[in-house]
Amino acid sequence: MTLAIPPREVDILIVGAGFAGLYMLHRAREIGLVAQVLEAAPSVGGTWYHNRYPGARVDIQSMEYSFSFSEELQQEWRWSERYAPQPELLRYANHVADRFGLRDGIRLNTRVTGAAFDEAANRWRVQTEAGGAWTARFLVMASGPLSAPNVPDFKGLASFAGPVYHTAQWPHEPVDFTGLRVGVVGTGSSAVQAIPLIARQARELAVFQRTAAYAVPAHNGPLDRDFEARIKADYAGFRERNRRMPAGFGSEQPPNPNSALGAAPAEREAAFEARWRIGGFSFLGSYRDIMLDERANALAAEFVRGKIRRIVRDPETARLLSPAQTIGCKRLCVDSGYYETYNRANVKLVDVSRHPIDAISPGGLATGGRSYEFDALVLATGFDAMTGTLMRLDLRGRKGLRIQDKWRAGPRNYLGLMIAGFPNLFNVAGPGSTSAFTNVIVSIEHHGNWIADCIRHLDAQGRPTIEATETAETAWIEHVTETASRTVYLTCNSWYLGANIPGKPRMFMPLVGFPPYADKCADVARNGYEGFVLG
Ligand code: NAP
Repeated sequence: MTLAIPPREVDILIVGAGFAGLYMLHRAREIGLVAQVLEAAPSVGGTWYHNRYPGARVDIQSMEYSFSFSEELQQEWRWSERYAPQPELLRYANHVADRFGLRDGIRLNTRVTGAAFDEAANRWRVQTEAGGAWTARFLVMASGPLSAPNVPDFKGLASFAGPVYHTAQWPHEPVDFTGLRVGVVGTGSSAVQAIPLIARQARELAVFQRTAAYAVPAHNGPLDRDFEARIKADYAGFRERNRRMPAGFGSEQPPNPNSALGAAPAEREAAFEARWRIGGFSFLGSYRDIMLDERANALAAEFVRGKIRRIVRDPETARLLSPAQTIGCKRLCVDSGYYETYNRANVKLVDVSRHPIDAISPGGLATGGRSYEFDALVLATGFDAMTGTLMRLDLRGRKGLRIQDKWRAGPRNYLGLMIAGFPNLFNVAGPGSTSAFTNVIVSIEHHGNWIADCIRHLDAQGRPTIEATETAETAWIEHVTETASRTVYLTCNSWYLGANIPGKPRMFMPLVGFPPYADKCADVARNGYEGFVLG
C-alpha cells in the first residue's frame, strides 16, 4: 500500500527562480510569510540560465539592469562590461540568492504543471511534474514573459541529421561550430547577438530571414569606472530618475523633447548620428515623436537603412537587410557587429519572407524551390511571449475555470497583476503590465512591492482573498490597447501582439509607460483596492 504524501503548506508559493522569483521570495520573507519557490531548472537565474547562446548579454546597461532594493548590493557588485554577458548575469542571480539567504526557500528541478483554486479552503493546490503537491494561500507566477520557447512546426524538423539548438534552450556544455555549415532561422534580438559569433566559428553560415531587423550598435566594452563611481555616489538618485523614465531606464539620455518633423535635415542627421554613437535604445529617443508618429519614425528608420547600406558591401544583401516596418515596432535589437557580419565570405542571407521554410530534411532545408545544406541548425525563433508559460499549465480558477478558456481571445487581467476568476494569484511582469517595455528589473521590483503591500493589507483587514472584477479587467484591457494605439506599436506584426505564433489571438499585451502605470497601481491600493473584490 502506498501512502499519499500530504501536500506541503506555505503562505505563498512562487513559480520561478529568475530575478522575479528571487525578489518575490525576499519580499515575502520580509513581511513574515512562509514562502516557497519552485523552479524547473537546476539553477536560479531564469532567462540567464537558459539563454546561453553565443553572444547572449543584456541590452540595457548593467548599471541599470540590476536590483535597486539593497544599497549594499548595488554598491558591492561590480559589473565588468557596459552590457553584462550572460555568465556574469547568472553569477549575479546566484550572488543575490546567497547574499539574501534565499536558497533554502527555493526547490530546484521542480516543474510546476498545474494549480487549482480550492474555493472551500481559499487556497491554491499546486502540482509538480514529479507528483509533489503544495497548498498556498497566494500563488505568484514569476515565470517570466519570455520563457516559453517557440519552436516552429517545421515539417520534417525531427528528421534533421545534425544537432538542432534553440537559442532559449542552449546546451550547458560548449557548442563548437568550427568547420561546420550552420543554418540560423530568425533575425530577432537573440539571432542578432549570436550570428556574429557563430559566423566566426562556422565554415559556412546561412541566415534565414523572414523579417529584417533594425539593430543599433551596443558599443559594448569594459565598464567605464568613472561612470560607475559617479552612479554609485548617488545610486538611489539614479534609480529614482530612471523610474520616472517611460521605460524605467535611460535617464542619462532622456528623449529629445523636440519633434523630428520640425528639425532641418542636417540637424536631424546630426541628432540621429549623436544617438547612434551613444548606442542602444537611446536611439529611439533622438526625437520625442519617433514612437508616436509614423512620419517621424520613417525618418529614423531611413537613417538606419542608410547605415546598413554603408556597412554592408553587397547591395542586394544590404537591400534584404533593410527593414521596411516602422522602427521600434518590433523590439529594437542592440548589436555588436551584426550588419558587418554579412561582409564575411562565409555568410549568406536567405530571404524567406515570400517563400516560407517548406520543410527540413536530414541535410538542411528547402524554401522557394531551393535547398540549403548544413550540419547544424540554430532556431533563434523566439518565444510564445507573455502568455505562453501560463497557457502551457493546467491552471484552474474558481469553478474549475481553465486559463486556456479565460484567455481564449487573449490575456485578460487587471493592472496586469490579477485575473478575474483566479483569486490570490498574482502574475509578475506579464501581459497588461509594462514588463516588456521596461528595464524588466524595475517592473519586477514594482510588482514584488505591490504584491507584498497587497498581502499586508489583506492581513491587516482580516480578508482571506482578493480578486479582480471583470469590469475592471475589461476597462484595463481597453486602456492597454488604447495606450498602444497612440504609438506606432500597432503598425507591424510583433510578439507584443502575439503575431509571431500561428493561431495566437491578436491582442496588444504590454502596456506603454512605466510612470503612469506605477501611479495607477499606487492609486488603486490607496483607494482600498478599487477594481478588486476582497473576500
Ligand atoms: P524574436 O524577436 O521573436 O525573433 C524571432 C525570429 O525568428 C524573428 O526574426 C522571426 O521572424 C523568426 N521566426 C519565427 N518563426 C519563424 C518561422 N516559422 N520561419 C522563419 N522565421 C521565423 O525572438 P528573440 O530574438 O529570441 O527575442 C525575443 C525577445 O527576447 C526580444 O525581443 C527581447 O525582448 C528579448 N531578448 C533580449 C535580449 C537582450 O536583452 N539582449 C536578447 C535576446 C532576446 P518574424 O520577425 O518574421 O516573426
